[in-house]
Amino acid sequence: MVSRAEAAPTVGVLALQGGVAEHAELLEKLGAAVRLVRRPGDLEGLDGLVLPGGESTTIDRLTRIFGLREPLIAAVREGLPVLGTCAGLILLSTEVEDPAAGQQVLGLIDVTVRRNAFGPQVDSAEAELPWTPAGGGAATVTAAFIRAPEVIRLGDGVEACSVLVDADGRRRVVGVRSGAVTGVSFHPELTGDGTVHAEFLEQVREHAGARV
Ligand code: GLN
Repeated sequence: MVSRAEAAPTVGVLALQGGVAEHAELLEKLGAAVRLVRRPGDLEGLDGLVLPGGESTTIDRLTRIFGLREPLIAAVREGLPVLGTCAGLILLSTEVEDPAAGQQVLGLIDVTVRRNAFGPQVDSAEAELPWTPAGGGAATVTAAFIRAPEVIRLGDGVEACSVLVDADGRRRVVGVRSGAVTGVSFHPELTGDGTVHAEFLEQVREHAGARV
């Protein structure tokens, strides 16, 4: 029998709206079994969860309509590793500087984000981003920026794992991690760069192994 730790980990991709397929494809390529998450029962037994990009206000609304909001928060608080990209990062945050009317966030990583923070020159462009792996060192990620948010406040215990230096020399945080929660402003799944997802899957495998 294959033990739980050796088997492919099961990673959920929140599939209410947004760029779901590209995440699923990349995760499968990296050895995960993917489950699309649309209702609370879909969260059961997951080893990790991805919140895709899209429109954070729509995803927020749909998580509430489908009764996913509270079980998702509970699962991550219990230690389920989660990766949010773009709108997914906005959802993970504790605060949005410029929320749409009635917009709620999940409050799972103590950061404040500014939506649509990059101008047209960076927007929708492919960029080479610096990436600090969890264990230290330096890497780069090729990713797309699409109406990307910026992290403008990092709470205690939150580390910046990707920082852009713009033309004016300003440091702009576009990747954060705290424990099992990672959020990035950009879309590595759109270029197929597996750096961020592979690191996430390491965390997922550790989490799955610890539960055997
Ligand atoms: N600006 C979008 C939002 O507020 C995010 C864009 C994206 O996910 N590509 O949700």
